[in-house]
Amino acid sequence: MNNQSADFIPISQPYLTASAQTLVLDCLQTGWISSRGVYVEQFEQAFAALVGCEYAVSVSNGTAALHLALLALGIGPGDEVIVPDLTFAATANAVLHCGATPVLCDVSRSHWTLEIDALKACITANTKAIIPVHLYGNPADMTAINQIAQTHNLALVEDCAESLGARYQGKATGSIGHLGCFSFFANKMITTGEGGMVTTNDAALAEKVRCFRDHGMLPARRYWHEVAGLNYRMTNIQAALGLSQLECFEQFAERRQAIELQYQTELADVPGISFKQVLPQATAVNWLTSLVIDPLLFGATSVQLFAFLQQHQVECRPFFYPLHQQPPYAADAAAFSQSAIVSAQGLSLPTFYTLTQVQISRVCDLIKLAQTTFSSPE
Ligand SMILES: *Cc1c(COP(=O)(O)O)cnc(C)c1O
Repeated sequence: MNNQSADFIPISQPYLTASAQTLVLDCLQTGWISSRGVYVEQFEQAFAALVGCEYAVSVSNGTAALHLALLALGIGPGDEVIVPDLTFAATANAVLHCGATPVLCDVSRSHWTLEIDALKACITANTKAIIPVHLYGNPADMTAINQIAQTHNLALVEDCAESLGARYQGKATGSIGHLGCFSFFANKMITTGEGGMVTTNDAALAEKVRCFRDHGMLPARRYWHEVAGLNYRMTNIQAALGLSQLECFEQFAERRQAIELQYQTELADVPGISFKQVLPQATAVNWLTSLVIDPLLFGATSVQLFAFLQQHQVECRPFFYPLHQQPPYAADAAAFSQSAIVSAQGLSLPTFYTLTQVQISRVCDLIKLAQTTFSSPE
């Protein structure tokens, strides 16, 4: 973000509408700035309707959503929860913070989500849940994952932090598993600054999430704590922002889709570049336009391309490091050959609502220039 020139293109930028100002100002003027106030419930209801779920419980962030979902399921010490090796670390951190053990699973080379044979191999007598992550907005293979979960009587928690609006067999991600977890960080599909949501169709689970979110107090008996809960509530100000974002969600999602299409069209003839493959029964969203670069065909590595774009005032970002390579989750590399490759070769490009066609063309031209520059022998 430093040394920005006029033609600097950031990777992401929140888009705040005029109604955001109206609604947030209303919070300030009425004094309803904490987690009580009309917007919290309105946002939850509008969100539940969007995802097509019975219940939506707002929380302070996406990590809190995952933590609460696992607590509501009763996940604790001795339990194993399967998470993809390629994800944002919050997915696995939430498991660790329940005292349970995250079990890492390799991902598909082409789809970047849980690889089904690897998933089967992860299951033990202690497995209690699976957290499929719809990475970069790409729905995981929920039919196969559901089947495995049912066979072994496992809970399914969808990590939808990057997939608001994505669908699988017509159903919104977050409405397929037992619980869905969303994030509203500034760079996500919609934002509340910081914020998150847990969705479910199970009344008892929704009740537990609400209870754990609010110190473990029973709604019907204040200051009586049935469990040692947490304070993971969303504020009325955040919910006001969230409501204003939902009003424009369809436009946001459509624009992001068009952005990916333009990148794909302009980069179609560049050797060694591939985009995420989407299952035929799924409709992805474009959270961040992401590429995998085969260095042999492209003539440069994703790290070299990253530096080249950075030099030319285009901000991009590498994929997540595979969890098995990082200290809290260190595991033998042998089982994670695909996630290691996807991670090493991945690069995400500028993707946000106000990004212009001219800016996208500039990024694409730079990628083509990098390809010819790096691959032509001097
Ligand atoms: C952003 C993200 C989270 C965490 O959300 P926060 O709101 O930042 O806590 C969890 N999982 C994935 C896959 C994410 O991208």
